[in-house]
Amino acid sequence: MAKLKIVKVGDDVLRKVCRPVEKITPRTLTLLDDMIETMRDADGCGLAAPQVGILRRIAVVEVEPGNPIELINPKIIAYAGEQEEQEGCLSIPGRWGITKRPKHVTVRATNRNGETFEISGSDLLARALCHEIDHLDGKLFTDCVVRYVD
Ligand code: ZN
Repeated sequence: MAKLKIVKVGDDVLRKVCRPVEKITPRTLTLLDDMIETMRDADGCGLAAPQVGILRRIAVVEVEPGNPIELINPKIIAYAGEQEEQEGCLSIPGRWGITKRPKHVTVRATNRNGETFEISGSDLLARALCHEIDHLDGKLFTDCVVRYVD
């Protein structure tokens, strides 16, 4: 596994819409492994492919240590409720803000074996899923911040 360089805000790559993954290749699996290592090294609870300069619909989320969720072509298929909580981003170091997000979401995605799965999450997991999927559409948490936290 290898640690990847995290792209910082201001780089155009963070504002692009990512392309779907058509075929899972050994490179896809290496990327997932490297993204998990990079996320953990940076103490993050999620990382999306554009944050390491790759414009593909791939993200990883880990809100429960030791239990990373790998998402290929993820899509939010249901959401409910509302929460306002603090959020940050590995691409925007030192910046924290309160965002408005759904309290519960259900995401459909493909796993590394090419199988479709669904995952439902509330609170932090729901926020992390929304945050990472936003990255795949070129959106940053600062786009939906209600107010910044010093
Ligand atoms: Zn982020």
